[in-house]
This record gives sequence, structure tokens and C-alpha cells, in this order.
Amino acid sequence: MNSLLQIAPTLAEYFNVRLSSPAHPVEQILKFVRARHPIPSVVLLLVVDSLDTLLYSDFADDLRGVHELVEQEGLLLECETVSNHTTPAIGSILTGLEPEAHGIFTDNDVGKSKIKSILEILEDAGMKTAMVIETGGAKPLIDRISYVFAVDDREDIIEYDELIKTHTIAVLQKRDVRLVFSHIRAIDRFAHRGLDLRVATKVTDGNIKELATAVRERDGLLLICGDHEAHIKTGKRAGTVPLIVSCP
Ligand SMILES: [Zn+2]
Repeated sequence: MNSLLQIAPTLAEYFNVRLSSPAHPVEQILKFVRARHPIPSVVLLLVVDSLDTLLYSDFADDLRGVHELVEQEGLLLECETVSNHTTPAIGSILTGLEPEAHGIFTDNDVGKSKIKSILEILEDAGMKTAMVIETGGAKPLIDRISYVFAVDDREDIIEYDELIKTHTIAVLQKRDVRLVFSHIRAIDRFAHRGLDLRVATKVTDGNIKELATAVRERDGLLLICGDHEAHIKTGKRAGTVPLIVSCP
């Protein structure tokens, strides 16, 4: 079983920078990427909030586009989660450390941690990175990485994801950017409110398809993962999330 902690070490190995983590890079991903010609120069790391393993299979029909990325020579890995909450989970995805080790539990902790994220490590090594995320999480990073796009939280979460997608596509067109981190949230919001998840999964699938096209236009690598199990009241969840690896 893989873990979300392995994503940052895998990216560090891929970009040839040093990152200190107890987790190992995922060799399968490195092998997959190194077999490509040319080797992708840009990576989009997309966190789909609350996309867990069960939801990925239960809503396979609505997530057709995502499943196709796997079927078309992609990889599907199952990852253990590190937290039930978004902020510490994203902290772990970006640092390769358990929440207790990186200390980022709320938006107030973002930017105060002495631990550098993979984005900042790449910047230190002269590689440009981008982050497209909710305003609270984005603010502390504005002076620390090359491109920061902040989207205000709002009642209309579909509109929110639309804005995240638009900014992500725009920044992927910048020739100098090497790693883009983006976070979409419709599934999580619908799960919390007990709304029809088919609506959220369909919208998410459409957004991912467009993002995949933008990655393809750059001959890039697309990594998609969930952050924690879905907050759904009924039934037992698996405690794991999918990690999808694709050169669309
Ligand atoms: Zn979340």
C-alpha cells in the first residue's frame, strides 16, 4: 500500500532536489515518467477534495473521464491517508511529513511552518512553481513561489471550482512553470451537505478533462489524488484515496 506521504518525495526525486521525509518515492511513478519521450517538463498535482477509493469506484460512471486517464496507459495507486481534514492532509501531500511533523492544521498555520513544501524547495533550486488554492491557504505563499492564484471561498462551489480550473489552465500555459498545485472542492462540499454527489462528480469529471487537455498541450504529467476519505454519514469508508498518474 502506498501513502499520500510519498507524493512529495516522488516529485523531489523526479525534479532532482532534496526533500527530507520518512517516506520513499514511488518507483512505479518514476519508472512510468522516465519511460516517456520527451520526459514531461511540467507536472500538475491536482487534489480533488474528498475523492476516496470508494467514491472513485461507486461513481465510476460519473467519473468516466478520470477512469479513462487510467485506462489509457495511466496508473492507479491506492494511498493511505494521513488525516481526516483537508489542511493537514494537503500539508502532508506537499511536504512528505505526517501532520504532527509539519504542524499545519489550520489556515493560520500555513506559512508559519519552518518545513518547506516541495513547491518552495523547487523555487530554491531555481524552478518556477504555481499554486491555485483558496485565499486563506494562498496568502502566506505569495512571496515564496512564482505564481499564486487565490480564489475566495463562496457559497457556489461549482463556480469556485470553475475559477480554480481557469487559473490552473492559464498558468499551465506559462512555459517556465515546472510544478502546479491545484485543489478543487465540489465533491467535499456536496458530501458535507448531503447533496447529490452525482452532480458534483460529473462537474469534477468535466473540470478534470479540461485540465488534462491543458496538461497534454504541454506534454506534461498529471497527478490526481484525494486528500482524505469522504465525509459521508452512511456506510464505512476505506480510509484510502486513489492516486492517478497520467500523461494525458
Ligand atoms: Zn478535504
